[in-house]
Amino acid sequence: SHVLVCGGTGCTSSGSHRIIEKLEKEIAAQGLSEEVGVVQTGCFGLCALGPIMIVYPEGSFYAMVKEEDIPEIVAEHLLKGRVVTRLLYDETTKTDKILPLNETNFYKKQHRVALRNCGVINPENIEEYIGTGGYEALGIVLTEKKPEDVIQILLDSGLRGRGGAGFPTGLKWKFAAANDAEQKYVCCNADEGDPGAFMDRSILEGDPHAVLEAMAIAGYAIGASQGYIYVRAEYPIAVKRLEIAIGQAREYGLLGKDIFGSGFDFDIELRLGAGAFVCGEETALMTSIEGNRGEPRPRPPFPALKGLFQRPTILNNVETYANIPQIIVKGPEWFASMGTEKSKGTKVFALGGKINNTGLVEIPMGTTLREIVEEIGGGVPNGKKFKAAQTGGPSGGCIPAEHFDVPIDYDNLIAIGSMMGSGGLIVMDEDTCMVDIAKFFLEFTVDESCGKCTPCRIGTRRMLEILDKITKGQATMEDLDKLEELCEHLKTNSLCALGQTAPNPVLSTLRYFRDEYIAHIVDKK
Ligand code: SF4
Repeated sequence: SHVLVCGGTGCTSSGSHRIIEKLEKEIAAQGLSEEVGVVQTGCFGLCALGPIMIVYPEGSFYAMVKEEDIPEIVAEHLLKGRVVTRLLYDETTKTDKILPLNETNFYKKQHRVALRNCGVINPENIEEYIGTGGYEALGIVLTEKKPEDVIQILLDSGLRGRGGAGFPTGLKWKFAAANDAEQKYVCCNADEGDPGAFMDRSILEGDPHAVLEAMAIAGYAIGASQGYIYVRAEYPIAVKRLEIAIGQAREYGLLGKDIFGSGFDFDIELRLGAGAFVCGEETALMTSIEGNRGEPRPRPPFPALKGLFQRPTILNNVETYANIPQIIVKGPEWFASMGTEKSKGTKVFALGGKINNTGLVEIPMGTTLREIVEEIGGGVPNGKKFKAAQTGGPSGGCIPAEHFDVPIDYDNLIAIGSMMGSGGLIVMDEDTCMVDIAKFFLEFTVDESCGKCTPCRIGTRRMLEILDKITKGQATMEDLDKLEELCEHLKTNSLCALGQTAPNPVLSTLRYFRDEYIAHIVDKK
């Protein structure tokens, strides 16, 4: 038998590394080292219940395991084959028989594509990735496909960028492939900065090779030999696993010169971000990789023509890349069969806020917010009522209960005044003040505005001042009008998406919860 223990950031912070040490010691003390393997994996998704472990062959899912539980797990389960029911995840024990994980509410509506290896393999061992079909896609591409075939597969799959804007990935690659240059670049945006978002971190921690493989495929498709991953320095586990993965891929000849004997060269380097939110914006990210202060530059020219070091460049985010190897292996029709008409595949969301099952979920596009919150998320704690969910971070908006049954996809979210963003989903209950929420996000944008253009640098501050006045009960209706005027001004005149979307949290809360703003106003008429 073998034991999988989550080694993602969530479970590591609740002490999973100590659990692993203790488990290995206890297994050795019982003379079981030959028969039982302990594997440290990436995230299982149920971060609220960490540290988590699964014991095979039974598949027993133990939650909130403490060091003092380990002797019992080893003596009872590993030695005598008796499951320690008191430690099982509640949902698996609701009926007489123990439910398999994929039949529990948390997992049954999920479909893991980008997260398929997270919580399954040891991300620090390339052979485990290869053992689950890893690097097969790169082999297929390099030996059987022309670059234009690869781009066509992506176009046919309907994959859209998972970083927020939802631009068709195949089209982005097609533009970069069409521009001739001696050197082109493939970049990966791992600078996930939205408050409440940890999708990309979990993929890098749980399955780093999927991203490396997809970047090499991208390099072949557009004619680039160099890739860069721009990753937040605040993600030390992800950085460490990426370093290990890059080293192993080079050792196995899957990065570097003449990959698979095809004559194709491709290598990847890491660049660490220093925590500026604006560096998640594509032109700022590239400016930062070039060694300059991370400020956005005007577009056009777009990166597909003049990106990193003024060369044709594609930039995709971590989750987008994580889908690609499977699209190659299973075919674009397979991918396009999931999701809605214009949003294919699945989306990873980080569930947070007032929700029972805080954690990471991956659902087919088109799943409703009700299914995510009530079924997968286990509902709002303490019997409180759901009020709204915030998606898209500081660029997104709030979705009120009246839109609980809207199928979630790129276009529907925009139609109801929010946006997909990278996938943070923060749930709010009936006690939440929506003006406070708007103020929280605006404080964040004021801090993170790079200051390069006036509408954003000054406009966000003026907006925050008005919001502050409103929450203190000192604002008038004239102030509210001014706030709305500023929103429009920022949307149309800011240089980059940070400023252009900064008003969204205010606009969406005004749209659905205007009465809460009015309630704070002194001269309401
Ligand atoms: Fe900088 Fe804001 Fe202007 Fe973007 S919109 S360039 S973040 S000041």
